[in-house]
Amino acid sequence: MPPRPRPIAVVDAARCTGCGWCVPTCHLQLLSLETVRWKKTSTLHDADTCSGCGKCVAKCLFDALTMQAREVG
Ligand code: SF4
Ligand code: SF4
Repeated sequence: MPPRPRPIAVVDAARCTGCGWCVPTCHLQLLSLETVRWKKTSTLHDADTCSGCGKCVAKCLFDALTMQAREVG
């Protein structure tokens, strides 16, 4: 059996308030606030590097961040 792929942090832009609390929790500095449709929104950069640690998800009080299975193939 191949190893299960690591999950990845996914931002729900509709729920994200742009508070920025998740940004400093990422030890790999993969998150930043970017303007998306005129609204500050947490954005994951370099998704391949995300370790799947889930720290950013735990920090978000607005259920805007979730861990999801990576698409394979
Ligand atoms: S903590 Fe949640 S609501 Fe705040 S910027 Fe991050 S994803 Fe958006
Ligand atoms: S799951 Fe961990 S590595 Fe991935 S973006 Fe969130 S804090 Fe960073």
